[in-house]
Amino acid sequence: MDWDIKAWEEAIRAARKRIAPFVERTPVLHSFHLSQRLGYPVWWKCDQFQASGAFKIRGAANALMSRPEEERVRGAITYSTGNHGLAVAYVCRTLGVPAVICVSELVPPAKIDALRKSGARIVVDGQSQDQAAQIARRLADEEGSILIPPFDDPAVIAGQGTLGGEILEQVPDVRTVLVPLSGGGLASGVALAIKARHPQIRVLGISMDRGAVMYESLGTGTPLEMDEVPSLADSLQGGIGLDNRWTFGLIQKLLDDVVVVSEAAIQQGMRLLGEEGLIVEGAAAVGAAWLLAEDRPPLSGTVVGILTGHNLSLADFVRATASEE
Ligand SMILES: *Cc1c(COP(=O)(O)O)cnc(C)c1O
Repeated sequence: MDWDIKAWEEAIRAARKRIAPFVERTPVLHSFHLSQRLGYPVWWKCDQFQASGAFKIRGAANALMSRPEEERVRGAITYSTGNHGLAVAYVCRTLGVPAVICVSELVPPAKIDALRKSGARIVVDGQSQDQAAQIARRLADEEGSILIPPFDDPAVIAGQGTLGGEILEQVPDVRTVLVPLSGGGLASGVALAIKARHPQIRVLGISMDRGAVMYESLGTGTPLEMDEVPSLADSLQGGIGLDNRWTFGLIQKLLDDVVVVSEAAIQQGMRLLGEEGLIVEGAAAVGAAWLLAEDRPPLSGTVVGILTGHNLSLADFVRATASEE
């Protein structure tokens, strides 16, 4: 199914049916501030309003529901400490099957507590995210449960792609879609859904400029490993896998551009969204951040920015938007 975009489109259509019981068709809201300021319509696709607080429930639900029932009852396993882990836990809890999240010994206790509250069993072992991933793979083999990787997986990509189909229906005159980019499951899926039908619609990936692994890897033409640095967009941190099989190639082939934004710009983006009544995490604000940047190339026509998640406390939102970056 590698480059057969029609096959991907079919997979995304099938995903949409499969995940319907778990996923909201989230609203699009008009950004009055930005539309007025920029002179063209800007819409937010508000996928932070999914039950687990982020879009990732789409990919997790598709990965699980595309397996036969007798496999599903044994549950799922993953190694993401962020929104993907919460999404897997949510879908498993809804189905009444066990979820396991493998985390390294470096993950802070507060984060482990939050994951525990999601109802998943937490396995703390290993000295890095990579080791936690290996442990998850081994456990999945031993226990016969379904391993659901956070982004580099066809079922996950197709699930995230359902967002692209909704955007085409909700904003039919869209010319540019802005997608927060980390491992690239979301941007791959959205680009596949959109380009299959409208190759002229521009799809841009946006990352933070601190440790943007996909962006740097595209620059050198091969997946890289980089150190993690703190960022307001913490959900965009993490590698793309040196053995990346799907998302690196899809992003390389399908995205019109990949750009990065500064911490100060992300803070401005969060502020603007907050003033519009939308509390989101830093990762979701990179589109707003880029639209506000003085030095970006001009756009024309209707823009849709995807708001990907709101998993941060109100106190953290206040801190992030009030401090001087
Ligand atoms: C995971 C995530 C992203 C990036 O998705 P990828 O598929 O890894 O590129 C963006 N925003 C939020 C809030 C996320 O949780």
